[in-house]
Amino acid sequence: LVKHVFDITAQSFSFCNAQISTLILAEHESGSIKPQTVSTVVAANHLGESSSVSLLLAGSGSSLQEAASQAASCHPSVSEVLVADSYRFEYPLAEPWAKLVDFVRQQRDYSHILASSSSFGKNILPRVAALLDVSPVTDVVKILGSNEFIRPIYAGNALCRVRYTGAGPCVLTIRTTSFPVTPITESKKATISQIDLSKFKEDAVSRSRYVGQSTQDTERPDLGSARVVITGGRALKSVENFKMIEKLAEKLGGAVGATRAAVDAGYVPNDLQVGQTGKIVAPELYMAFGVSGAIQHLAGIKDSKVIVAVNKDADAPIFQVADYGLVGDLFEVIPELLEKLPEK
Ligand code: FAD
Repeated sequence: LVKHVFDITAQSFSFCNAQISTLILAEHESGSIKPQTVSTVVAANHLGESSSVSLLLAGSGSSLQEAASQAASCHPSVSEVLVADSYRFEYPLAEPWAKLVDFVRQQRDYSHILASSSSFGKNILPRVAALLDVSPVTDVVKILGSNEFIRPIYAGNALCRVRYTGAGPCVLTIRTTSFPVTPITESKKATISQIDLSKFKEDAVSRSRYVGQSTQDTERPDLGSARVVITGGRALKSVENFKMIEKLAEKLGGAVGATRAAVDAGYVPNDLQVGQTGKIVAPELYMAFGVSGAIQHLAGIKDSKVIVAVNKDADAPIFQVADYGLVGDLFEVIPELLEKLPEK
């Protein structure tokens, strides 16, 4: 046992002293880098002082190159943008992406590999970790050092301190709401390098294939990073009634959220679900209508600055976390709000 403890300590010690170099899997859309990638860069800066940050962008065509150019100046700490331009990365499928990360890592040694805890990161990073034979640390909310992290457990009811003692690179998914991006004043452009993919080998038979992507509403802000979120629960009772929530979100310039009960009832698609098994949000204003406040839902909203709840049951648990609560019928309150709020 003594030898074992010594081995782990020694391993950690040499790891801590090593130069920190981080590879971040970047998300981009329509030629722009997504805000969650910039938050992941902010998180990487907490790993240590002498850390270098590289962004890995994959895709194909001109929108990829546009995103790469934007990524090069998205944060002063980014030193390099690596671009993998190929039809194989046109869609974010886990298999080719994970292989790409492994391919890049074989050419340069990275101490850390990061992605945001979005559906993109959660899809790809576990496969990367399996390929590298390491244990990933997921949903990191605080970085205490190069190998020590805090992550929520039990639906966010407890926080767990995790020390990574593995020999390979430390693979992390980052809960980006915990790493807000402060306005960037320094302008610095990282170098952009095109990855030579001539030696990149894919599996002959891929077990997954891209079927399609449906985006709900490009006009509305992204739920994960919106400043205002208006959520409806099961009490809305129908798809038709849920449109009231959408109208209110529109008036307030916010994103629409839903409880799992509302999603399961088919009122809205599941990409609007907020909570433990949905999206984690941290808006300035979170408004919940007909939401009971189950712990699995609260796990996704606890970092909201101001929570407003409307529920006809005065004992609903949502009132225990709400900054402002109104005991009332949402079918009366929402129409009144819609009437009194000015047009956007
Ligand atoms: P209900 O619990 O049915 O509450 C409806 C509320 O509306 C009640 O409080 C009622 O008083 C109020 N109400 C009714 N009529 C009106 C009216 N006219 N005006 C005003 N108020 C009214 N849930 C999530 O949301 N997100 C998750 O990610 C999630 N993950 C889960 C993971 C696991 C493993 C499990 C087991 C559950 C998960 N759940 C999740 C489900 C969660 O436990 C609750 O069942 C769900 O959040 C309840 O949704 P609700 O508040 O819409 O419905």
